[in-house]
Amino acid sequence: TTEAPLLTATGLTAGYGQATVLHDVDLELHAGRVLAVLGANGAGKSTLAKSLAGMIPIRSGTISLEGAPIDRLGSFQRVRRGLSLVPEGRRLFADLTVRENLELGLGPRSAADSLERVRTLFPKLVELSDRAAGALSGGEQQMVAIGRALASEPKVIVFDELSLGLAPVVVDRLLEAVGEIAGWGTAVVLIEQNVHRALALADEALVLRQGRVVFRGDPGEFTDEALRLAYLGAD
Ligand code: ATP
Repeated sequence: TTEAPLLTATGLTAGYGQATVLHDVDLELHAGRVLAVLGANGAGKSTLAKSLAGMIPIRSGTISLEGAPIDRLGSFQRVRRGLSLVPEGRRLFADLTVRENLELGLGPRSAADSLERVRTLFPKLVELSDRAAGALSGGEQQMVAIGRALASEPKVIVFDELSLGLAPVVVDRLLEAVGEIAGWGTAVVLIEQNVHRALALADEALVLRQGRVVFRGDPGEFTDEALRLAYLGAD
């Protein structure tokens, strides 16, 4: 595509305390595209998600959304600009109802019907509206977490380990929803342990190993051998 990318990151470096976890990561993502981010445990996937969403500061590099730098903005301001995170572990308010959790995601830009789109995507959330989020199944809670992120009508959405601990049939439904969200024109960063499912959905993919990008390209180029090398770290 010749359009400008929605999301661009260059030379991203980030970490915690003395430890640098993410080294010099570049990525570019266009509207309606799904980028799968793969890698072994500890490779830095969540750190990348948190860096993009502004949950941790970056040490160097740039992040821009629609050509404007966002790397100095806090996470709330990034949501306002159109970048939302569905965090690992969902982070719902267990004592609040489904409706209240969803409403927490509404931003100043949200149209009156922005939750309507969420209800169309996950009709089940309508019947669950008045239930406490903490009383739901893991898959239902993940729908709420996705719905909350969608309420702000993001242009870019980052999913961190959507499928963790969920049954395969539930994972299938959630990943199907990710495809629908991309179909609306949303740019999707999909951080996923479930390599084959993620590659099946993705338009492009990258593999992190020890915080560096070791493979990137078309999902079709990711042979089992390439993945094995990327994950096991043999060179
Ligand atoms: P996982 O699938 O296990 O979550 P990941 O690829 O998402 O793996 P990260 O969570 O980004 O990996 O972690 C990368 C490295 O950063 C690990 O060595 C981890 O121990 C370290 N790390 C993660 N969070 C913190 C933190 N809050 N403080 C210190 N170190 C951290």
